[in-house]
Amino acid sequence: MAEHNSTRAVHAGEEKHKPDHTLTTSIARTSTYTFRNTAEILAFMQEKADSGPPYSRTEYGRYGNPTQSAAEHKLAALEGGERALLFASGMAAVSTTLLTLLSNGDHIIISRDSFYQTREFAETLLSRWGIETTLVENDKPEAFAAAIKPKTRLIFVESPSNPYLRVADLPKIVEIARANKVLTVVDSTFATPINMRPLEYGVDIVIHSATKYLAGHNDLLAGVVIGSKQTLADIGTARGLLGGITSADDASLLMRGMKTLDLRVRRQNENGLRVAQFLEKQPGVERVWYPGLASHPDHEVARRQLTGFGGVVSFEIKGDFEKTGCFVDSLQLPFIGPTLGGVESIILQSATLYSLDPLERKLAGMKDNLLRYSLGIEDADDLIADLEQALAKL
Ligand SMILES: *Cc1c(COP(=O)(O)O)cnc(C)c1O
Repeated sequence: MAEHNSTRAVHAGEEKHKPDHTLTTSIARTSTYTFRNTAEILAFMQEKADSGPPYSRTEYGRYGNPTQSAAEHKLAALEGGERALLFASGMAAVSTTLLTLLSNGDHIIISRDSFYQTREFAETLLSRWGIETTLVENDKPEAFAAAIKPKTRLIFVESPSNPYLRVADLPKIVEIARANKVLTVVDSTFATPINMRPLEYGVDIVIHSATKYLAGHNDLLAGVVIGSKQTLADIGTARGLLGGITSADDASLLMRGMKTLDLRVRRQNENGLRVAQFLEKQPGVERVWYPGLASHPDHEVARRQLTGFGGVVSFEIKGDFEKTGCFVDSLQLPFIGPTLGGVESIILQSATLYSLDPLERKLAGMKDNLLRYSLGIEDADDLIADLEQALAKL
């Protein structure tokens, strides 16, 4: 019945007939679960001994929650996966997954243009536990193949990536991974299941920062890992040990946000393309990075792989650090800050939050004039008029 993601976003994961005849799924705000008597505890323990997770109930909030479980079922349906695990943030999802799947002596390949904290986690923490990281260019499958070593366990790709919206050729990367018996994990935060469903390409695990498009209203932090029951079993156990589970309140807000996911992302795809096309024609703009533009290096792959190009446009102002800051300050509609994917437009001059030291920024390849503009669901004409007046002041 729910064959399309717009329908799944509304209905999947939630029982039609709920306790107390409510339409919405209620918030199970509880830290623990109780048993009627000792026999019930023993029957629960017997179930755990007889079958693998997920179990029909849990005994404590760190292992699960009915509200969170409903949100997980919706997410699994949207991505076409067997099972989803919700976490307290995108980074809790990334770190728990990597800590579970990697061991001392292992090697991981990560696409170079990807979320800064993912790379930082690998390079500062995983390295301390004897796990080696190689960064490779997102757009070069042959570089992934060349980087594989005997101890490579996992390829982690972000697509489209942050901030340059690089799109990786997932079928090719999956082929390389399978030939080498290596797992593939895709951070699909920028795509959402509306624009791309990596599991259909044979990817093993999909991760999202649900803080962004999935929740969509800039009012919570959450992360999700989606894949087969078997692949996710150990990650689920690790979540209970590391403790980064999402709260029932956040799961409920996330579920509410996801009902409009399809509407929001379609509008954001439209806004992204309109704004990118506008910016590309402006003399005050040095370069626009948007996979929907023919000028983007991965446009061809993006056309094959994405059904929408997303709501984030990165662009470079013709000017230095200060001039770019002045441009941002002239804009009237967007908020200024990190994060993306919400209904409110938000812009960030990435260099400002990276470092106060120009040399450090330069060494890291962080461009002073680069802006990441996450378009919200406002009207494209208004967003463009706002950019136009700010560009006129340059
Ligand atoms: C934001 C983000 C993350 C981290 O998610 P949090 O919810 O902030 O912890 C990971 N990957 C990508 C691509 C992101 O944009």
